[in-house]
Amino acid sequence: MKTTVHDAWDKEHLWHPYTSTIDPLPTYKVESAEGAVIRLVDGTELIDGMSSWWCTIHGYNNARLNNAAAVQLNKMSHIMFGGLTHEPAIELGKELLSVAPPSMNNIFYADSGSVAVEVAMKMAVQAAISTSGSHKKTNFATIRSGYHGDTWNAMSVCDPVTGMHNAFGAALPVRYFVPQPSSRFNGEWNAEDIEPMRQLLQEKHEEIAAVILEPIVQGAGGMWFYHPEYLRQLRSLCTQYGVLLIFDEIATGFWRTGRFFAWEHAGVEPDIMCIGKGLTAGYLTMSAVLTTADVATSISKGEAGVLMHGPTFMANPLSCAIALESLRMLKERDMKTHLLSMQSIMEEHLAPARELPGVNDVRVLGSIGVIELKRNVDVGKFQKECVRKGVWIRPFGKNAYIMPSYVASPDQIKFLCNTLVELVSDENNY
Ligand code: PMP
Repeated sequence: MKTTVHDAWDKEHLWHPYTSTIDPLPTYKVESAEGAVIRLVDGTELIDGMSSWWCTIHGYNNARLNNAAAVQLNKMSHIMFGGLTHEPAIELGKELLSVAPPSMNNIFYADSGSVAVEVAMKMAVQAAISTSGSHKKTNFATIRSGYHGDTWNAMSVCDPVTGMHNAFGAALPVRYFVPQPSSRFNGEWNAEDIEPMRQLLQEKHEEIAAVILEPIVQGAGGMWFYHPEYLRQLRSLCTQYGVLLIFDEIATGFWRTGRFFAWEHAGVEPDIMCIGKGLTAGYLTMSAVLTTADVATSISKGEAGVLMHGPTFMANPLSCAIALESLRMLKERDMKTHLLSMQSIMEEHLAPARELPGVNDVRVLGSIGVIELKRNVDVGKFQKECVRKGVWIRPFGKNAYIMPSYVASPDQIKFLCNTLVELVSDENNY
């Protein structure tokens, strides 16, 4: 007899992300995972389309990453970073600077993506006050449909509709929002796209410390891929008006969009950059905030004289050792070619969805494939069908999307795409 994949105790007591405790979405109990395959407790095998929310870039249970973790575990799994340092933090830092935008110089290791965004915003405020001498220059501007995490300040710059503004209302700081760029990544550039941002910065630059946005790919807020020209024009506006530019590369980093980091599509650099998720290849939670010597220096010359942040698990050696090994693995492989081949498989096999009546749009970039539907998906219903067909996909809003890990084989990627198209072709499935 098969074991049940739903756990009654879990349902009664454990909170899962964005789910009611009274009527929770079903959860499936996982026994183990290997490469691109998730194995449930009843033996069901699922091809993983989510990389555990963008993280597990080298797949699950990777021998080299396991070994890096084990070696570090036997030395020390943690040590405070206040007054102490260690080889994994230093070596990881060197590797990160070798792949980061050339003007990045200082690295702050943080705990998670949301915390990285908090730190980046604190950096921007401290630097802006220090350079302008004005305590008014403390607000932020962003584009709609963004997503930057679930902590307080991160929430305040998430899309006001798809984000959490309704639940928290007046408790959230009020930020400046302009429309997201409408020009598609591979489409024509519409010069009107930048105008709302130009106008905002012209009028309010004395109040704005920084513009924060996800470069090229907006993730959880809308899965939208926009034109690189937007970033080029935004960069020059920020420079012109003395406003810092923060790129949130937490989802887009580590080759997800076909480049090491998404800023490379536009060729313009931020002043502050957040990375996370794929940084530790999904093994442990860690993020980093990178910035220029200019920003770091102006913070240090400011009133506080230091950056006001210092988490307990800062630069956790175990996380650093795994992240370092993961970066080495990425460097050893021709990732550009690999991502192009993932992209072309996904383009070919998701394309048939364009003809379906329930589908609004299909877009692929790097290893991200999105089918935008005409109406919201019933996640519980859709996932039940996914599990029945042997895939793991978790849609959000109108978007059913996949981002397989880089170890997924061409056959596994094709299976994911074909199954996704099959699922959205019957509106009863969602
Ligand atoms: N920024 C972006 C672009 C993200 O996609 C996410 C996570 N989905 C975050 C920030 C927050 O990261 P975390 O969940 O690790 O706090």
